[in-house]
Amino acid sequence: MIDYRNLRVALLGAGAVGSQVAALLLKHADELADRAGASLELAGIAVRDLDAPRDVDLPRELFTTDAESLIVGADIVIELMGGIEPARAYLLQAINSGADVVTANKALLATHGSEIFDAADQVGAEVYYEAAAAGAIPIIRPLRDSLAGDRVQRIMGIVNGTTNYILDRMDVEGAEFADVLAEAQRLGYAEADPTADVEGYDAAQKAAILASLAFHTSVPLDAVHREGITQIDATLIEAARKAGYVVKLLAVCERLTGETSASGEAISVRVYPALIARSHPLASVHGANNAVFVEAEAAGPLMFYGAGAGGVQTASAVLGDVVSAARRHIAGGVGVGESTRANLPVVPIGRAVTRYQITLEVADQPGVLATVAGILSEGNVSIATVEQTVVDPAGVGATTETETGARVARLVIGTHRAREQDLSDTVERLAASDVVERVASVLRVEGD
Ligand code: NAP
Repeated sequence: MIDYRNLRVALLGAGAVGSQVAALLLKHADELADRAGASLELAGIAVRDLDAPRDVDLPRELFTTDAESLIVGADIVIELMGGIEPARAYLLQAINSGADVVTANKALLATHGSEIFDAADQVGAEVYYEAAAAGAIPIIRPLRDSLAGDRVQRIMGIVNGTTNYILDRMDVEGAEFADVLAEAQRLGYAEADPTADVEGYDAAQKAAILASLAFHTSVPLDAVHREGITQIDATLIEAARKAGYVVKLLAVCERLTGETSASGEAISVRVYPALIARSHPLASVHGANNAVFVEAEAAGPLMFYGAGAGGVQTASAVLGDVVSAARRHIAGGVGVGESTRANLPVVPIGRAVTRYQITLEVADQPGVLATVAGILSEGNVSIATVEQTVVDPAGVGATTETETGARVARLVIGTHRAREQDLSDTVERLAASDVVERVASVLRVEGD
């Protein structure tokens, strides 16, 4: 048996993820020591309530409510409490007392990442956060290390399992949003308060983290455009299916060229429900799974796929970080660090460029198509496809009658790539036009 140097590991939190991390640290202690080149001694576990039930059996003597004392003297501090405070204060305490830190806290990194990375830089500590975006999927390390010699052009991620579960069930079963959400809550896939998931806040935090890494730029959370999935209904999903698309909540992080910045580049970071062709790899991400599709200049397209959450799955990513932290602690030297030197401007959503599908209810009379085409062309939005549906009034895409008795038809217009601002101005003009009864939906089309 090798006589390894002992490293003290302090764990903050023993909930869904923390309890699994503690159990695996204890169970695989010998193997982890061989991989890390150091023995990883679980020095203690800080929680709020010593008597709270735990998902796994853990030695009671390890538990404490005194996180601050536990951090003193620790070589590695793992923060799995969640929330902003006191997690932020504890991480800063750990960094300033010479520990390397591991966290899965996307909310904290998306809002206070710069402060934490700067504090670590100043003392030569390292911050590891593989589990903060897309759970068990290795995506932070690939972006930070493996692709450090490449130029990432675009990331499209399904990074929220709850919304993917809901949209997938709506797609497969034709169910309505509210019904699937209620069932997801019953099964534990969705929180009692689902706002963070269904309104896209959780995905926006992950988008900020991924974009910062991919483009070597500090991306503040409020620069991320965010829309949720609460407006997506069964009719829309069915129409998408018929057109060969699936609706996914996507985090899109993209490098733009031809901009006015010094380098001529900028980035766009946005979260919204979008149509994606059924032939795209992201379309086959089912249930609560996550996937991140990365397009890099030299590497080309890469897809990272797997469990985006779950206690034991996320613990795998956390323990990988603990081993990395231990290796660095033993070897010494400067860690990988965060590079934000590219410092690219993050453009507002109006400057994003993508394709769109616009569904209009229009007066069913001669000349309507020409009027609609004219408005689009004046707005710099070029038409790629048009489909007019005139079917039984009872069906989807029906020709119906308005209160005044005029017949109404449904027009589905696919556009070429257009600037978001041009598109939204054009949609406003369409909505105000005499021939348009209603703008039924406007969805972005991503992935080609
Ligand atoms: P959780 O189940 O709510 O557990 C939180 C733990 O932190 C509990 O043990 C709690 O103690 C402890 N805690 C909270 N506030 C504390 C305080 N002020 N002082 C001491 N202990 C405190 O959370 P989780 O699901 O494990 O998530 C942990 C982190 O991982 C979060 O940042 C989350 O975003 C991230 N994450 C989670 C998942 C997942 O699948 N769950 C996936 C990826 C990332 P008590 O038990 O005594 O209340």
